Amino acid sequence: VGVFYRPLEKIAAVIETYPRGIAGFRRYQELLATEPEIRDAPDAVPAPPLGGDIRFEGVGFSYDANRPILRGIDLTIRSGETVAFVGPSGAGKTTLLALLPRFYEPTQGRITVDGIALDRMQLHSLRRQIGLVSQDVFLFGGTLRENIAYGRLGASDAEIIEAARQARLGPLIESLPEGLDTLVGERGVMLSGGQKQRVAIARAFLKNPPILILDEATSALDSQTEREIQSALDALAVGRTTLVIAHRLGTIRHADRIVVMQEGHIVEAGDHGALIARGGVYARLAG
Ligand code: ATP
Repeated sequence: VGVFYRPLEKIAAVIETYPRGIAGFRRYQELLATEPEIRDAPDAVPAPPLGGDIRFEGVGFSYDANRPILRGIDLTIRSGETVAFVGPSGAGKTTLLALLPRFYEPTQGRITVDGIALDRMQLHSLRRQIGLVSQDVFLFGGTLRENIAYGRLGASDAEIIEAARQARLGPLIESLPEGLDTLVGERGVMLSGGQKQRVAIARAFLKNPPILILDEATSALDSQTEREIQSALDALAVGRTTLVIAHRLGTIRHADRIVVMQEGHIVEAGDHGALIARGGVYARLAG
């Protein structure tokens, strides 16, 4: 990724942090300083509660004018569907999903949710309905409880405990000297990558969005941790439209649909069985 500020890190910064606390505010400010701000159209309306029917219609995108990154993307995702995006590094998976919370505007075509064009909706009302679980989890210096509560301001204690349970954080909490009140992050207990990811999952349960973007971890976790995280993510995806940026094929076999991308195009789409039977790019990757 080199000098590029990866799109999903920016989504993570905004979606996870901008409403809360000084640290989040600073990150948000940094973000605004580095990227042209996307503003609401004067007549933009608050997004209604979204069902999560997503349509990409002839979507093209380039970061700079002479290098197209996405071309002619047509894709309809039904409410509640889990769709995994696979393909070589640089194929455009992350960029495509970064268009959904409107980090960038398509340079061609349009994207709708429930039939409403993204740029008709007030940005904050759209982003409030998109959850993100990425591999870069931002923990601030505070208690574990506060870090989970970040998912939704004003959540009750019972809701926080339930979200922690759903994210399979129970055993960790029991092992900590002060449970949920244990300080984590820089001046507290350092959490492992897998534990941090579960905090992100707990935040997403609290936020309870209709649309979820999962950026699968590229770093290896031990297989027990990986199974636990996978089962928590599977539970999180239930009843939501879920878009997964997949880095390993093993975890997405059961996705409703797998979209294979290459050089900014969709080259194949179907479930695991159909794509294997087709004997194309996915079958070769999986074989
Ligand atoms: P990976 O599996 O490695 O995450 P990907 O399929 O998600 O790859 P993207 O991260 O979307 O691919 O990158 C697609 C292309 O866009 C790459 O060539 C990348 O270098 C380029 N790119 C990504 N972010 C930026 C940016 N902020 N500015 C300019 N180019 C970028």
